[in-house]
Amino acid sequence: MSIIKPLAPSAGKPALIDPFQRAITYLRVSVTDRCDFRCTYCMAEDMEFLPKRDLLTLEELDRLSTAFIERGVRRLRLTGGEPLVRRNVMSLIRSLSRHLRSGQLDELTLTTNGSQLQRFAGELADCGVRRINVSLDTLDPDKFAHITRRGELPAVLAGIDAALAAGLKIKLNAVALKNFNEGELPFMLRWAHERGMDMTVIETMPLGEIDEDRTDRYLPLTLVRKRLEERFTLVDIPYKTGGPARYVEVAETGGRLGFITPMTHNFCESCNRVRITCTGTLFMCLGQEDAADLRAAMRGSEGDEALHRAIDEAIGRKPKGHDFVIDRATKRPAVSRHMSVTGG
Ligand code: SAM
Ligand code: SF4
Repeated sequence: MSIIKPLAPSAGKPALIDPFQRAITYLRVSVTDRCDFRCTYCMAEDMEFLPKRDLLTLEELDRLSTAFIERGVRRLRLTGGEPLVRRNVMSLIRSLSRHLRSGQLDELTLTTNGSQLQRFAGELADCGVRRINVSLDTLDPDKFAHITRRGELPAVLAGIDAALAAGLKIKLNAVALKNFNEGELPFMLRWAHERGMDMTVIETMPLGEIDEDRTDRYLPLTLVRKRLEERFTLVDIPYKTGGPARYVEVAETGGRLGFITPMTHNFCESCNRVRITCTGTLFMCLGQEDAADLRAAMRGSEGDEALHRAIDEAIGRKPKGHDFVIDRATKRPAVSRHMSVTGG
């Protein structure tokens, strides 16, 4: 049966609709697999990074992102690894910002660990970036140094201040970790809301080999929510940011709290996202191995016809969803690649 593909209004090219009739409007692009931190749940201490020659150039990242924007992607999130440690990343962001000005893109944003924000916040705002996600799992300097293995909390806090001063809206992302930050979450929530920031808590996902047992750290958000409800009044709200978080408003603070629950509540049915790695591999699902090599399609010809064909083929086999498991019997990660490869 042939599917009639609606036209993406801004480009006149067919929109990307997957086999389950979900329109792909959100692209995450990992611009590097490298990072200045080594968060224990994300990476092993002795991570081997890709040889630089395997990475897409900044021009190729732009070309690839632009191809997706022509096909109806309205939101673009740069991530990594740490996106702000990629050399000259600001030239990519500045170049991509033309799609904001043309109206083809609704949002250009990034997920960052905040370590470089002091340096880049002003320029990001100048490029039309309006809100960013900053990952922060604790406000305790010693615990921060422990979980990131090499991060310094004061630099991240100064980065957050710089971003707020530049007018960027911030959402704090905290991975909920048993025996690490569960007791601290109420404090972090108040701290974020006092500064006008939203906060989202995330369940840890079984991605890539790390140095610890994930079952020791996995904390279901059903439990986190129950505990928070002992102190706060959480009111479900229909607020959406295009991502998978479900939000509540916290009556006591007036701020928003999001829950990303890949483990306890699979959110795949409404998935509008695909992800590209820094080598140009397109993953149609964060939790599945199937992928398409867009770098080969792109480097094979100067025009973008082959690239669009490869994108169509890949979207035509986007799976219905993932099925992550973290338990004592399941020792292997669901997929072998780390979050820093696919891009969180
Ligand atoms: N370095 C940037 C940062 O930390 O924000 C961007 C990349 S990082 C991979 C994106 C997000 O993925 C972070 O919020 C991080 O906490 C989260 N993350 C990494 N590994 C994860 C895992 N195994 N399960 C759940 N979230 C994870
Ligand atoms: Fe780096 Fe982000 Fe992974 Fe932490 S979560 S190691 S900051 S990529």
